[in-house]
Amino acid sequence: MRKTEGPAIAAAGRTKDIIRRHGFTFKKSLGQNFLIDGNILDKIIAAAGLDESRGALEIGPGIGALTERLAQAAGTVVALEIDNRLLPILEDVLSPYDNVNVIHADVLKADLKRLWDEHFAGTAGVSVVANLPYYVTTPIVMKLLEERLPIERIVVMVQKEVAERMAAKPGGKEYGSLSIAVQYYCEPDLVAIVPSGSFIPAPNVDSAVIRLTKRPQPAVTVPDEDRFFRVVHAAFAQRRKTIANNLSALSGKERKAELTALLAGCGIQPERRAETLSLDEFARIDGELAKAGMID
Ligand code: SAM
Repeated sequence: MRKTEGPAIAAAGRTKDIIRRHGFTFKKSLGQNFLIDGNILDKIIAAAGLDESRGALEIGPGIGALTERLAQAAGTVVALEIDNRLLPILEDVLSPYDNVNVIHADVLKADLKRLWDEHFAGTAGVSVVANLPYYVTTPIVMKLLEERLPIERIVVMVQKEVAERMAAKPGGKEYGSLSIAVQYYCEPDLVAIVPSGSFIPAPNVDSAVIRLTKRPQPAVTVPDEDRFFRVVHAAFAQRRKTIANNLSALSGKERKAELTALLAGCGIQPERRAETLSLDEFARIDGELAKAGMID
């Protein structure tokens, strides 16, 4: 593990000094809330399970608080930052580290498969570790999962409410299509709840660090993922409605009686609500709907 002299970038005094010296002004529209809490960084790094043979992809390095710790813990670090004003700052503060590549890019537009080939070939495993910009958390996490990148785990700071939705089990109001999408690919566990005072500037929501450990295989086997997720989305379209009512939008209203019988036939009471259904039950419904020709 590499170490440098002097205070860490995340130390509040050092962060303020870097910001002042470079005349940096925060852009709220880019979700710029920088971490100044070394204890939280310790927890993020411990949860990521990095070592010299592994790589880390960071999204949104800001002024490098987390990047510095990743550089000390991993063999290779790639950090994608959308705000070009931060690039000279990162070049300055990360100059003691020769294992960090900062790339000016919007993660949502970046070719991540190419990035993997160019930077992570030969590493024992790669984790995504980031304090995510909250305005695009869900699209970023979904892109990472749906592109089927060889990721070991994703350890991210997100809005507390989003972390709760990702980790929710059936039966509560937090459980929804995001829980199912995340849990289809990963096992979630909550690492830490983070108060707003751990950031500069302080956001007006609480935050949480969540770890998503990639499953070797998706949690359920479905013949057509797009269709499976279409069923899930349709089932949650109006949360107060029963699954029979919501799914009739897919099967056609005229086939509602058939749909009700089909649900009952696969052991699922048609008057249940989507928030009570497990991934297995969604997979069963998807399979039966397809078999009956009620969805294509
Ligand atoms: N990692 C730093 C930290 O923990 O202090 C900064 C985290 S801050 C919450 C989010 C960072 O993501 C900002 O630096 C912001 O400029 C960057 N960002 C916002 N949207 C982005 C995008 N679409 N692609 C890449 N970076 C983005």
